[in-house]
Amino acid sequence: MPYAEVLINRKVAALDRPFTYEIPPELFDEIQIGSTVSVPFGNTTVKGIVIGMTDDPGEITPKYIDDIVNETFLFPKDLLELAEYLGEYYMNPKISMLHAMIPRGVNLFGKALKPKTEPYVSLAPWTETSNLRGERQKEIAAYLDSYGEISLHEAVHEKGFSVSALRTLVKKGVLLKEERPVRRYGFEIHSGVEHDFQLTEEQRRILHTIRSRGHDDTRPILLHGVTGSGKTEIYLRLVTDVISQGKQAIVLMPEIALTPQFVTIFERRFPGKVVLMHSRLSAGERRDAWYAARSGEAAVILGARSAVFAPVNCLGIIIMDEEHEDSYYQGNAPRFHAREAAAKRCEMTEALFLMGSATPSLESYHKGLIGEYQLLTMERRVNDVPLPTVKVVDMREELKSGWTEVISRQLIEEMNKNLIQKQQTLLFLNRLGSHTFVSCRDCGFVHTCPNCGISLVYYESRNSLRCNHCDHEVKMEDTCPQCNGRRIRYFGLGTEGLEKVVKKFFPNAVVDRLDSDNTKHKGDFDRIYERMKSGATDILIGTKMITKGWDFPNLTLTGIIAADLTLNFPDFRSSERTFQTITQVAGRCGRCSEQGRVILQTYRPNDPVILSGSRQDYGAYYEWESQKRAGYEYPPFTHEVKIIFTTPRGYLFQNDLDQIHRCFEDVVNSETEVLGPSPAIYRYHKETEKWVVTLIGPKLFDMRNEIKEGLCCLKGENILDKNIIVQVEIDPLDIV
Ligand code: ADP
Ligand code: ZN
Repeated sequence: MPYAEVLINRKVAALDRPFTYEIPPELFDEIQIGSTVSVPFGNTTVKGIVIGMTDDPGEITPKYIDDIVNETFLFPKDLLELAEYLGEYYMNPKISMLHAMIPRGVNLFGKALKPKTEPYVSLAPWTETSNLRGERQKEIAAYLDSYGEISLHEAVHEKGFSVSALRTLVKKGVLLKEERPVRRYGFEIHSGVEHDFQLTEEQRRILHTIRSRGHDDTRPILLHGVTGSGKTEIYLRLVTDVISQGKQAIVLMPEIALTPQFVTIFERRFPGKVVLMHSRLSAGERRDAWYAARSGEAAVILGARSAVFAPVNCLGIIIMDEEHEDSYYQGNAPRFHAREAAAKRCEMTEALFLMGSATPSLESYHKGLIGEYQLLTMERRVNDVPLPTVKVVDMREELKSGWTEVISRQLIEEMNKNLIQKQQTLLFLNRLGSHTFVSCRDCGFVHTCPNCGISLVYYESRNSLRCNHCDHEVKMEDTCPQCNGRRIRYFGLGTEGLEKVVKKFFPNAVVDRLDSDNTKHKGDFDRIYERMKSGATDILIGTKMITKGWDFPNLTLTGIIAADLTLNFPDFRSSERTFQTITQVAGRCGRCSEQGRVILQTYRPNDPVILSGSRQDYGAYYEWESQKRAGYEYPPFTHEVKIIFTTPRGYLFQNDLDQIHRCFEDVVNSETEVLGPSPAIYRYHKETEKWVVTLIGPKLFDMRNEIKEGLCCLKGENILDKNIIVQVEIDPLDIV
């Protein structure tokens, strides 16, 4: 087939389709689907990627392809197909999808990084070790005689061989020195033994069900297992199955950099076969992981969201742990949810897709109930340790009885018990800084961010006010900038503030804090994690970072400082997030032998979410929430789409906004509802402003066309011009 369909490397909607080029005869053998090429386009030369071949150029006379860009790189074919699917599903330009699939270090159109090499020495085949003089030379030769080879680094720094002896041997031709590629792993392997245990009955039942599934059952599996039910062991056994069939496994974790124990567990079970893929790795580490997955050298790819695009050849399974986590959704262009990507990829390759969670997303659980997913349940914890007891403390009552501290008396009492018994405590508060809100008592002035318009957070340690959205920071003054008053009032305690309160109550305890504010540098996280793991930490204060699948045997008490914090968010998913957080945070404690205790502080003790969360009753919660969603016709019963207009401030007037609404209203069918444009929650950024139109409807396929038509109409009305940026978010999870 002499013609190639080439996708041009330009992120312009109009160019989001293949163009046909003729393959020059001299490149016939080299150009394949997945090749990167340079082609003439208009008056210039552009790069592109071959996504198809054809015999028929159609009406036009195609131009010739100029050249191959990167001879050693081929875009994996199944990923091309996946990009096509995700591009359509999320209305992303395909070329952006392709870029998102290839990590830095591999470089789609540029030069790939080279593998790192290290000098190795081995005995030359003609060497007679008996001819050697000198003890040090003999020692080296004897070692290499039995072990074959050694890196120079290891020879000198670990074996203590003499540098000069090595050098002499190489010079004499006794040893051969060679540069070998070495893989940059991006993780440290912690030594230690693996626990050997009998599977629990539930684990055995689940594994049996999965292994004995009929070939015609290709549904994804949702494993709903309470916290500490031993889901990880299920994953490990299934990965073992896959490897024994000569296939590869992709294991996704929400934030792999925050769950070092998973890496250790997998590396111990599959030594030398695991690679990591996540955004905190260096470009070189990513390059090496990519090629190791591509070549099949790596059997297990462990990673965050984007590891769903690991270029494995022979996919056996994708496992998605904590499937409910929002970080599986990529909120920046190109937007996509790793769950959708994984499901499609497994469908294409006939691999198994397994999702696990103690608090499945409403979408997935719904699919489980209607049979679109196979729903499997584990109800008990390993060792039959009961789930933690949860005591709800009504903070209004605390106030009424004159206790004004953020930590209730009951929680203080329980923390005291834990300190005496040398057990660890976790305090959860999903708010950064010292205080989230600073105002003047005299004139009511509130410090707000000039970029974003939201209130600035006070950080006592830096004596500054900072925006948690855009990082804008100003020094905190003693007086009110508006009235010069000195009576400043602080509201809304954050983690930094909480740390101070805890230290006041427990001056002798070892208190640590884990949040995005104090883990900005490499190694910060590991240090805090290791201190907690070693048992040195008595009390750990943290944000959502601490909810990620942690497993510490000596952690027996969890305090949830303000359970209803997220409930007040203006988003229909806020109660779902609150329930998940409560259950997950509670689930961190009492996992080993002793039943854990949770103190849940709230101002809304009778809220259904708080109630079901405190009972860790997913079923009750699901019933309540799904009825509510069905009533309002929200997802999972419908799809939501947000169309975001970013404009200069004050650019759109009321009649423009009305016109925008009308353009969409005119094109949607009766089942799709049009809301807005309304100001975004994070409305302002620098000189710009955001407006959001929300479409809600049952038929995503139709809605995509409606969006296109609506935007077309806006162009026709001259509302859309080059000052307005439009983004479309399908099934979004983030708050705009
Ligand atoms: P989950 O992911 O379901 O919350 P984990 O997989 O982290 O739970 O398991 C909880 C703990 O139980 C871990 O420390 C794990 O090593 C241990 N565990 C898992 N399966 C067994 C078993 N069959 N027997 C004993 N301990 C187990
Ligand atoms: Zn800001």
